[in-house]
Amino acid sequence: MVLLREQIRYKSRKEVEKLREAGRLAANALRLTAKSVKPGISLLELDKIAETYIRQNGGTPNFKGYHGFPGTLCTSVNDKVVHGIPSHYVLQEGDIIAIDCGAKLDGYHGDTCLTVGVGQISEQAKMLIQTAQLAMYLGIEHSRPGNRLGDMSTTVQKFAEERGYSIVREYIGHGIGRDLHEDPQVVFAEQRPGTGFRFEPGMTITIEPILNIGSHKCIVEPDGWTVRTKDGSLSAQFEHDIHITKDGPEILSIPDPEFELEDGL
Ligand code: MG
Ligand code: MG
Repeated sequence: MVLLREQIRYKSRKEVEKLREAGRLAANALRLTAKSVKPGISLLELDKIAETYIRQNGGTPNFKGYHGFPGTLCTSVNDKVVHGIPSHYVLQEGDIIAIDCGAKLDGYHGDTCLTVGVGQISEQAKMLIQTAQLAMYLGIEHSRPGNRLGDMSTTVQKFAEERGYSIVREYIGHGIGRDLHEDPQVVFAEQRPGTGFRFEPGMTITIEPILNIGSHKCIVEPDGWTVRTKDGSLSAQFEHDIHITKDGPEILSIPDPEFELEDGL
């Protein structure tokens, strides 16, 4: 991938603080929603919880209306990969749900995702979720000056595949700032070490690999949004916004302590 340096908008310290505030708002709303996940609650009810919190705290849901997307959240259950539209679907014991939450605050965007189980879930599902979270943190750890995209991406893909999972190709990370999606494109598969953009101080990007139990192949449902695995296998995703400093990555989408989930999510 050839990418001109000029396409990446490097952020000032002040802008990073704005992104941290937006990231915190999205992270709080996400966990407030995740705490409400239980058998019997609908995706639309979850969406309402997130939207209410974001608006009450001075933000706006930035996914809502984005190319016509109807929700505050993307709610992707079981074999849904990304962009699941909040619907009347009622969560069942044993489901897993990836919740992606975005908020705009004072002109800057936050965008963060996690996957949780509904009630008791299978060991297979638990392993997928844990591995998806670790894959994200591995990606964050390797997003540092001295590395290029291909170094980070290869590490994440190898980690996932050695554990028997695949990485989704089409849905990737991105720069984040005044726009929800900025350059560069942050891919997590099929790169070569030593290639791609260099991680440099002042970059703000999302790290959001998606792991499937089966094949990486996906299909888009007739609603034009919901993406699911082609083979029907489970999918999980975690996402943080990060800022590259000269000393390494810094996570921007950190919730306030009172919002943290029991298992450290
Ligand atoms: Mg997201
Ligand atoms: Mg994102």
